[in-house]
Amino acid sequence: MTSRDGNGWVRCSLGHRHWGRFGAAGLLAYVAGGGPVLLQQRTWWSHHGGTWGLPGGARDSHETVLAAAEREADEECGVRPGMVRPRAIFTDDHGGWSYTTVLAQAAEPFEVAADYDETEDVAWVDLAKISQLSLHPGFAEHWELLRAALVPLTLIVDGANVVGSRPDGWWKDRAGAAARLRAQLEPLTLRGVALPSADPSPGPAAAGPRAAVLRMTWLPRIVLVVEGQARAAAEDPGSGQVRVVAAPGAGDDTIADLAAQTAGRRVVITADRELRQRCLLGGAEVAGPGWLLDQL
Ligand SMILES: [Zn+2]
Repeated sequence: MTSRDGNGWVRCSLGHRHWGRFGAAGLLAYVAGGGPVLLQQRTWWSHHGGTWGLPGGARDSHETVLAAAEREADEECGVRPGMVRPRAIFTDDHGGWSYTTVLAQAAEPFEVAADYDETEDVAWVDLAKISQLSLHPGFAEHWELLRAALVPLTLIVDGANVVGSRPDGWWKDRAGAAARLRAQLEPLTLRGVALPSADPSPGPAAAGPRAAVLRMTWLPRIVLVVEGQARAAAEDPGSGQVRVVAAPGAGDDTIADLAAQTAGRRVVITADRELRQRCLLGGAEVAGPGWLLDQL
């Protein structure tokens, strides 16, 4: 066993008292497409005892937020590693202390069990029933924001357009340039990206030095579409974290099809105006190569 050095109270820069010397983390397991979420009822003797919220707790100094959230969910509710796939990380940063929610997708509801120590009960709860429960105030405060993010994100990258936006000699070896881009994209699936729009930022009412900072970091699936001479890049899967799709014809047609058919939230990366319109009509969002390159 490694040492549990995170247990303890701390005062944040907003003046609150919080549990977790290195911050705290919780797991929000969900079934995509409007399915249920996994909630924990806190044991009666705890702080806010009897309320429903997320399994979670203090993070240790040596732990990543992902590891802390997964450990707590396992200890308290029997969520075994590998049952869920992290898709996004929401941080409520108070300065000197933060609470991080790991939004993690489950293929379907699985069996869970309360530890009857910190946990009174644990259940998969339908979205429509959540507002009827007595919720932990920390969870209730951000529930609407979290609810909007219960969906996996896919980035669909227009390889020719993004490669063409950097004058690095790509025209001498198009397949090599596409393979380089694939290798650069791989770390983003683990490190995450911040979307250019529509995600939480402190509004006017919350602005100022003494406000919590809210951040949503997405752990995206990435599809890189290559065409023409760059198609050879699809033969090397790399680490397998980025799916490389060789377009049989025009890359634009393949990208527009993916934009329309991929489940969940998807963002197409291209500067091509006509393609952007097609993707928007297909229900996708769009962003430019400059945004993607800034994330690398
Ligand atoms: Zn605070």
